[in-house]
Amino acid sequence: MKASQELEQWLADWPAASAEVEHALTDECLTGTEVSLFVDNGLPAEERERAATHLARCSYCTRQVGSLLRASRDLEDRLRARRALGGLRERVGACVRVFIDEARGAFTRFDGLLNGFGPAATLTPAWATTGLRTRSLGLLDAPEETDDRDAVHEATLVGEGLPNVDLCCCAEDGSVTVCMDAAWGVALIGPDGSMEEVPLEPGEDGNYYAFMTAMPPGEYFLTLLRPEHPNHP
Ligand SMILES: [Zn+2]
Repeated sequence: MKASQELEQWLADWPAASAEVEHALTDECLTGTEVSLFVDNGLPAEERERAATHLARCSYCTRQVGSLLRASRDLEDRLRARRALGGLRERVGACVRVFIDEARGAFTRFDGLLNGFGPAATLTPAWATTGLRTRSLGLLDAPEETDDRDAVHEATLVGEGLPNVDLCCCAEDGSVTVCMDAAWGVALIGPDGSMEEVPLEPGEDGNYYAFMTAMPPGEYFLTLLRPEHPNHP
């Protein structure tokens, strides 16, 4: 997985470069087989180098590699989450990737929602309505304090059949708070494949809160679980 993480970091810089070097498919372009071998790190060193050199110039092939990489990561993540959840998987309403980093605290990403797991939902960064549009037009730079323009600290999660969910990932102390307007379950899957249900605390505002603190660095899956007995709350 290390090679693909490396690749992913590298691909993150692509949008800025692609505007300059966009061109059509050429004879040098990677075949479908080469693309998947590249993602699986299955090309011999020499061919891998040739492919990397080509990718640096070809936005078409980079997109192919990027989307395959994303699809295979999603599949692996879904399998990891399913294994950890065991019998609880029937109750999954949504599953969000949460990252804990020693330097940057807790955060999720624009694409933090795990697709194909529960009903369709949307993760919206809290500042998206003001910042995202201007950023996408190139009028505003990404926040300066971070070199990771995808990091999201506050977001809302909306989807059919889901409660209203506010997710808050603290950059300072690395804590994660979930606020919901219904008493759904919250389970946290750790980087080691462990799973624990997080107790809910009813707030005075009528919402339900789940607090997660002191998590070791790593990639977590925050999972929202449908109430066990929806007809008898
Ligand atoms: Zn190409």
